[in-house]
Amino acid sequence: MKVLILGGTAEARALAQALSDTGVPIVSSLAGRVARPRLPVGEVRVGGFGGPEALATWLQEHAIGTVIDATHPFAERISASAAQAARAAGVPLLRLERPGWEPGAADRWHWVEDLPEAAAAVGALGAARVLLTSGRQGLSAFAGDGARWFLIRCVDPPDGPLPEHHEVLLDRGPYTLEGELALIDAHGIDTLVTKDSGGPLTEAKLHAARLRGLPVVVVRRPPRQDVPTVPTVAEATAWLRRQPSG
Ligand code: NAP
Repeated sequence: MKVLILGGTAEARALAQALSDTGVPIVSSLAGRVARPRLPVGEVRVGGFGGPEALATWLQEHAIGTVIDATHPFAERISASAAQAARAAGVPLLRLERPGWEPGAADRWHWVEDLPEAAAAVGALGAARVLLTSGRQGLSAFAGDGARWFLIRCVDPPDGPLPEHHEVLLDRGPYTLEGELALIDAHGIDTLVTKDSGGPLTEAKLHAARLRGLPVVVVRRPPRQDVPTVPTVAEATAWLRRQPSG
Protein backbone atom coordinates (compact mmCIF):
# COMPACT_ATOMS: atom_id res chain seq x y z
CA MET A 1 0.00 0.00 0.00
CA LYS A 2 1.08 3.53 -0.74
CA VAL A 3 2.15 6.32 1.57
CA LEU A 4 0.47 9.66 0.90
CA ILE A 5 2.79 12.58 1.63
CA LEU A 6 0.97 15.88 2.02
CA GLY A 7 3.66 18.24 0.85
CA GLY A 8 4.66 21.70 -0.26
CA THR A 9 7.74 21.83 1.98
CA ALA A 10 11.43 20.92 1.83
CA GLU A 11 10.81 18.20 4.45
CA ALA A 12 8.12 16.63 2.28
CA ARG A 13 10.53 16.52 -0.67
CA ALA A 14 13.28 15.04 1.50
CA LEU A 15 10.85 12.43 2.82
CA ALA A 16 9.74 11.52 -0.73
CA GLN A 17 13.40 11.06 -1.64
CA ALA A 18 14.16 8.95 1.43
CA LEU A 19 11.17 6.66 0.89
CA SER A 20 11.78 6.32 -2.86
CA ASP A 21 15.38 5.39 -2.15
CA THR A 22 14.20 2.46 -0.06
CA GLY A 23 11.53 1.37 -2.53
CA VAL A 24 8.49 2.46 -0.49
CA PRO A 25 5.59 3.31 -2.84
CA ILE A 26 4.56 6.95 -2.38
CA VAL A 27 2.36 9.63 -3.82
CA SER A 28 3.03 13.26 -2.94
CA SER A 29 0.25 15.82 -2.91
CA LEU A 30 0.64 19.54 -3.59
CA ALA A 31 -2.00 22.24 -3.20
CA GLY A 32 -1.18 23.75 -6.59
CA ARG A 33 -0.84 27.30 -5.30
CA VAL A 34 2.68 28.02 -6.52
CA ALA A 35 3.19 28.69 -10.21
CA ARG A 36 6.45 26.74 -10.50
CA PRO A 37 6.62 24.35 -7.53
CA ARG A 38 9.74 22.43 -6.63
CA LEU A 39 8.59 18.89 -7.33
CA PRO A 40 9.40 15.89 -5.17
CA VAL A 41 10.66 12.67 -6.72
CA GLY A 42 8.07 10.04 -7.55
CA GLU A 43 4.36 10.24 -8.25
CA VAL A 44 2.76 13.64 -7.64
CA ARG A 45 -0.86 14.77 -7.61
CA VAL A 46 -1.85 18.43 -7.53
CA GLY A 47 -4.87 20.32 -6.15
CA GLY A 48 -7.21 20.27 -3.17
CA PHE A 49 -9.17 17.13 -2.36
CA GLY A 50 -12.44 18.97 -1.70
CA GLY A 51 -12.48 18.79 2.10
CA PRO A 52 -12.02 16.04 4.71
CA GLU A 53 -14.83 13.73 3.55
CA ALA A 54 -13.53 13.80 -0.02
CA LEU A 55 -9.99 13.19 1.26
CA ALA A 56 -11.19 10.17 3.27
CA THR A 57 -12.79 8.75 0.11
CA TRP A 58 -9.63 9.50 -1.87
CA LEU A 59 -7.52 7.59 0.68
CA GLN A 60 -9.72 4.53 0.32
CA GLU A 61 -10.00 4.70 -3.46
CA HIS A 62 -6.22 4.99 -3.86
CA ALA A 63 -5.35 2.21 -1.39
CA ILE A 64 -3.38 4.53 0.88
CA GLY A 65 -1.90 2.63 3.84
CA THR A 66 -0.46 5.60 5.74
CA VAL A 67 -0.53 9.38 5.52
CA ILE A 68 2.33 11.68 6.45
CA ASP A 69 1.29 15.30 6.78
CA ALA A 70 4.47 17.21 5.98
CA THR A 71 2.73 20.45 5.05
CA HIS A 72 3.89 23.85 6.24
CA PRO A 73 3.41 24.69 9.95
CA PHE A 74 0.98 27.45 8.92
CA ALA A 75 -1.08 25.32 6.52
CA GLU A 76 -3.84 24.85 9.08
CA ARG A 77 -6.75 23.68 6.96
CA ILE A 78 -5.07 20.76 5.19
CA SER A 79 -3.67 19.47 8.52
CA ALA A 80 -7.14 19.60 10.09
CA SER A 81 -8.57 17.92 7.01
CA ALA A 82 -5.89 15.18 7.12
CA ALA A 83 -6.58 14.47 10.80
CA GLN A 84 -10.31 14.15 10.20
CA ALA A 85 -9.97 12.12 6.99
CA ALA A 86 -7.38 9.69 8.37
CA ARG A 87 -9.59 9.03 11.39
CA ALA A 88 -12.63 8.45 9.20
CA ALA A 89 -10.75 6.16 6.80
CA GLY A 90 -8.92 4.28 9.57
CA VAL A 91 -5.52 5.15 8.09
CA PRO A 92 -2.56 5.90 10.41
CA LEU A 93 -1.43 9.54 10.23
CA LEU A 94 1.88 11.11 11.21
CA ARG A 95 2.67 14.80 11.31
CA LEU A 96 6.18 15.76 10.20
CA GLU A 97 6.79 19.30 11.40
CA ARG A 98 10.08 21.10 11.58
CA PRO A 99 10.85 22.81 14.92
CA GLY A 100 10.12 26.51 15.27
CA TRP A 101 12.83 29.14 15.54
CA GLU A 102 14.25 30.21 18.92
CA PRO A 103 15.44 33.73 19.69
CA GLY A 104 19.04 34.26 20.81
CA ALA A 105 19.94 36.31 23.88
CA ALA A 106 20.52 39.48 21.85
CA ASP A 107 17.38 39.19 19.73
CA ARG A 108 14.48 41.64 19.93
CA TRP A 109 11.57 39.41 18.99
CA HIS A 110 7.94 40.41 19.48
CA TRP A 111 5.62 37.40 19.38
CA VAL A 112 2.13 37.92 17.97
CA GLU A 113 -0.78 35.56 17.36
CA ASP A 114 -1.63 36.47 13.77
CA LEU A 115 -1.05 38.97 10.97
CA PRO A 116 -3.51 41.61 12.25
CA GLU A 117 -1.53 41.59 15.52
CA ALA A 118 1.69 41.80 13.50
CA ALA A 119 0.33 44.87 11.71
CA ALA A 120 -0.48 46.47 15.05
CA ALA A 121 2.98 45.56 16.38
CA VAL A 122 4.91 47.28 13.57
CA GLY A 123 2.87 50.41 14.35
CA ALA A 124 3.59 50.13 18.08
CA LEU A 125 7.30 49.68 17.33
CA GLY A 126 7.32 52.90 15.29
CA ALA A 127 8.67 51.08 12.24
CA ALA A 128 9.24 53.11 9.08
CA ARG A 129 10.55 50.54 6.60
CA VAL A 130 9.39 46.96 7.07
CA LEU A 131 10.60 43.77 5.45
CA LEU A 132 7.43 41.64 5.28
CA THR A 133 8.22 37.95 4.75
CA SER A 134 5.03 36.28 5.96
CA GLY A 135 4.05 34.95 2.55
CA ARG A 136 1.53 36.19 0.05
CA GLN A 137 -1.62 35.29 2.04
CA GLY A 138 -3.24 37.53 4.63
CA LEU A 139 -1.40 40.70 3.66
CA SER A 140 -4.65 42.67 3.70
CA ALA A 141 -3.97 42.93 7.46
CA PHE A 142 -1.40 45.60 6.51
CA ALA A 143 -3.48 47.27 3.81
CA GLY A 144 -4.79 50.05 6.04
CA ASP A 145 -1.29 51.08 7.10
CA GLY A 146 -0.32 54.11 5.04
CA ALA A 147 2.20 55.29 7.63
CA ARG A 148 5.16 53.12 6.61
CA TRP A 149 6.80 51.46 3.63
CA PHE A 150 6.82 47.71 3.15
CA LEU A 151 9.13 45.49 1.15
CA ILE A 152 6.90 42.45 0.55
CA ARG A 153 8.91 39.36 -0.33
CA CYS A 154 7.08 36.27 -1.52
CA VAL A 155 7.34 33.43 -4.04
CA ASP A 156 4.30 34.35 -6.14
CA PRO A 157 2.52 37.71 -6.43
CA PRO A 158 0.27 38.48 -3.44
CA ASP A 159 -3.44 38.80 -3.97
CA GLY A 160 -5.83 41.13 -2.19
CA PRO A 161 -5.26 44.67 -0.97
CA LEU A 162 -1.74 45.78 -0.03
CA PRO A 163 -0.46 48.78 1.95
CA GLU A 164 -0.30 52.09 0.10
CA HIS A 165 3.52 52.31 0.16
CA HIS A 166 5.16 49.07 -0.85
CA GLU A 167 7.34 47.18 -3.26
CA VAL A 168 6.87 43.48 -4.07
CA LEU A 169 10.00 41.38 -4.39
CA LEU A 170 9.35 37.96 -5.92
CA ASP A 171 11.98 35.57 -4.66
CA ARG A 172 12.33 32.18 -3.08
CA GLY A 173 14.87 30.76 -0.64
CA PRO A 174 17.23 29.45 0.35
CA TYR A 175 18.60 32.83 1.40
CA THR A 176 22.12 33.65 2.58
CA LEU A 177 23.21 35.91 5.42
CA GLU A 178 25.15 38.11 2.99
CA GLY A 179 22.11 38.43 0.74
CA GLU A 180 19.79 39.28 3.62
CA LEU A 181 22.19 41.88 5.03
CA ALA A 182 22.51 43.47 1.58
CA LEU A 183 18.71 43.58 1.21
CA ILE A 184 18.24 45.17 4.65
CA ASP A 185 20.94 47.76 3.98
CA ALA A 186 19.86 48.58 0.42
CA HIS A 187 16.29 49.29 1.48
CA GLY A 188 16.98 50.86 4.87
CA ILE A 189 14.86 48.21 6.58
CA ASP A 190 14.25 48.88 10.28
CA THR A 191 11.83 46.05 11.17
CA LEU A 192 11.32 42.45 10.06
CA VAL A 193 8.01 40.57 10.05
CA THR A 194 8.02 36.78 9.75
CA LYS A 195 5.99 33.72 10.61
CA ASP A 196 7.67 31.15 12.87
CA SER A 197 8.13 28.88 9.88
CA GLY A 198 11.30 27.29 11.22
CA GLY A 199 13.92 25.47 9.20
CA PRO A 200 17.29 26.47 7.78
CA LEU A 201 16.26 27.66 4.29
CA THR A 202 14.81 31.02 5.34
CA GLU A 203 16.39 31.65 8.72
CA ALA A 204 19.23 33.88 7.46
CA LYS A 205 16.90 36.90 7.78
CA LEU A 206 16.83 36.33 11.55
CA HIS A 207 20.63 36.32 11.79
CA ALA A 208 20.74 39.43 9.60
CA ALA A 209 18.19 41.20 11.83
CA ARG A 210 20.28 40.27 14.88
CA LEU A 211 23.45 41.66 13.32
CA ARG A 212 21.69 44.92 12.41
CA GLY A 213 19.91 45.13 15.80
CA LEU A 214 16.45 45.14 14.18
CA PRO A 215 13.26 44.20 15.99
CA VAL A 216 11.50 41.14 14.59
CA VAL A 217 7.75 40.61 14.74
CA VAL A 218 7.20 36.83 14.81
CA VAL A 219 3.80 35.27 14.18
CA ARG A 220 3.25 32.23 16.39
CA ARG A 221 2.30 28.91 14.85
CA PRO A 222 -1.36 27.93 14.88
CA PRO A 223 -2.39 25.19 17.31
CA ARG A 224 -1.51 21.63 16.27
CA GLN A 225 -3.82 18.76 15.60
CA ASP A 226 -3.76 15.99 18.18
CA VAL A 227 -1.76 13.52 16.07
CA PRO A 228 1.65 11.86 16.56
CA THR A 229 4.29 14.37 15.47
CA VAL A 230 8.00 14.07 14.67
CA PRO A 231 10.47 16.83 13.76
CA THR A 232 12.71 15.05 11.24
CA VAL A 233 12.57 12.93 8.11
CA ALA A 234 14.63 10.21 9.83
CA GLU A 235 12.06 9.93 12.61
CA ALA A 236 9.24 9.85 10.06
CA THR A 237 10.82 6.94 8.18
CA ALA A 238 11.43 5.12 11.49
CA TRP A 239 7.74 5.61 12.42
CA LEU A 240 6.71 4.27 9.04
CA ARG A 241 8.77 1.11 9.52
CA ARG A 242 6.89 0.48 12.78
CA GLN A 243 3.48 0.62 11.06
CA PRO A 244 1.77 -2.68 10.23
CA SER A 245 1.71 -1.68 6.53
CA GLY A 246 5.31 -0.38 6.63
P1 NAP B 1 -4.23 25.47 3.89
O1 NAP B 1 -4.85 26.80 4.16
O2 NAP B 1 -4.02 24.55 5.01
O3 NAP B 1 -5.08 24.67 2.80
C1 NAP B 1 -6.11 25.24 2.03
C2 NAP B 1 -6.63 24.16 1.13
O4 NAP B 1 -5.68 23.85 0.12
C3 NAP B 1 -6.87 22.85 1.86
O5 NAP B 1 -8.13 22.84 2.49
C4 NAP B 1 -6.75 21.85 0.72
O6 NAP B 1 -7.92 21.86 -0.10
C5 NAP B 1 -5.66 22.46 -0.13
N1 NAP B 1 -4.32 21.95 0.19
C6 NAP B 1 -3.37 22.49 0.99
N2 NAP B 1 -2.25 21.76 0.98
C7 NAP B 1 -2.50 20.72 0.17
C8 NAP B 1 -1.73 19.62 -0.27
N3 NAP B 1 -0.45 19.44 0.15
N4 NAP B 1 -2.31 18.73 -1.13
C9 NAP B 1 -3.59 18.90 -1.56
N5 NAP B 1 -4.35 19.94 -1.19
C10 NAP B 1 -3.82 20.84 -0.34
O7 NAP B 1 -2.85 25.63 3.12
P2 NAP B 1 -2.04 26.94 2.65
O8 NAP B 1 -1.54 27.64 3.86
O9 NAP B 1 -2.85 27.66 1.62
O10 NAP B 1 -0.79 26.25 1.96
C11 NAP B 1 -0.96 25.55 0.73
C12 NAP B 1 0.26 24.66 0.52
O11 NAP B 1 1.43 25.44 0.49
C13 NAP B 1 0.44 23.62 1.62
O12 NAP B 1 0.54 22.34 1.02
C14 NAP B 1 1.71 24.00 2.33
O13 NAP B 1 2.51 22.90 2.69
C15 NAP B 1 2.40 24.93 1.34
N6 NAP B 1 3.05 26.08 2.01
C16 NAP B 1 2.32 26.89 2.80
C17 NAP B 1 2.93 27.97 3.44
C18 NAP B 1 2.18 28.87 4.38
O14 NAP B 1 2.79 29.81 4.94
N7 NAP B 1 0.89 28.66 4.61
C19 NAP B 1 4.30 28.21 3.21
C20 NAP B 1 5.02 27.35 2.37
C21 NAP B 1 4.37 26.28 1.76
P3 NAP B 1 -9.11 20.80 0.09
O15 NAP B 1 -9.80 21.20 1.36
O16 NAP B 1 -9.91 21.03 -1.15
O17 NAP B 1 -8.51 19.44 0.16
